[in-house]
Amino acid sequence: MLKISKRIEIIKSLLDENTNQSLTYAALECRLTLEYICYERFKLSCSYLSEKDLNGWRPRDVVKQMSEEVDEDINKGFTISVCKHASGDKVPKTRTEYESLEYNYLGEQSALKLNRLHSLWQAISNVALHIPIPNIKSEELNIYGNNEQISKKVTDILKFLSTLNGNILMGGSRGETFNFECFFCETPIKKPFKYLASASIVNCINPNCGESYLIEPDSENEFEITRRVIKFPCHNCKLDLEIPSNTFNNLRFRQVLNATCGNCNASTDLIMSPMIKENIQ
Ligand SMILES: [Zn+2]
Ligand SMILES: [Zn+2]
Repeated sequence: MLKISKRIEIIKSLLDENTNQSLTYAALECRLTLEYICYERFKLSCSYLSEKDLNGWRPRDVVKQMSEEVDEDINKGFTISVCKHASGDKVPKTRTEYESLEYNYLGEQSALKLNRLHSLWQAISNVALHIPIPNIKSEELNIYGNNEQISKKVTDILKFLSTLNGNILMGGSRGETFNFECFFCETPIKKPFKYLASASIVNCINPNCGESYLIEPDSENEFEITRRVIKFPCHNCKLDLEIPSNTFNNLRFRQVLNATCGNCNASTDLIMSPMIKENIQ
């Protein structure tokens, strides 16, 4: 877990130096720290969400999506305490019964105000880490931003960081999960039941695997898993070649994909090109 006090110390000393270079470096340290804070929360639960499932790459968006699809507590603040419970003890049922037990404090997770974090992350880059694109009204280009503006934003970020004094992070899903193994690479894939929609597309969490699946509830309240593939007949033996649908996501117009038949070893080229469909009135 990132030691925030150490990060604050580094950023403060750069701020105190108060030169163009030290302030720019302080800004960079601030931005990296904010990104680390987000990604360390994401990493704790990333076995539930593939990088390919992410809707956005910005640190705030990654944590937000994780809180909506895996664990709603990921950005919340809470305290954890534990108590002894022998196997023969009566299992508490009500809140009063739980509260009457004797607890030992374990630690706390700091709440992460994602919108505030995002606006600071963006603001520090704007004032210190980019040179604005010039136009006909621009004055001289400058390598460094305005010292006063940078100092102010760095101070705002130090204030934000000082509120993050939790000493634990909790990840993963605490509810029941739907589990299966990827057909191709055998990586275990887990999805919390409560976030499985009526039909969900789930990518394999192995970054080197292109497989994805459609998970749909069936008539017996179970879930049906369908591998997402596009089928083409082999020109030689006529058996179907099954290509993972994701393979086509990044192909460009007229790009060629070569496929070898697993049955007869014949080679087939697939060429990306527009398809015509007639709309019958
Ligand atoms: Zn896989
Ligand atoms: Zn074949």
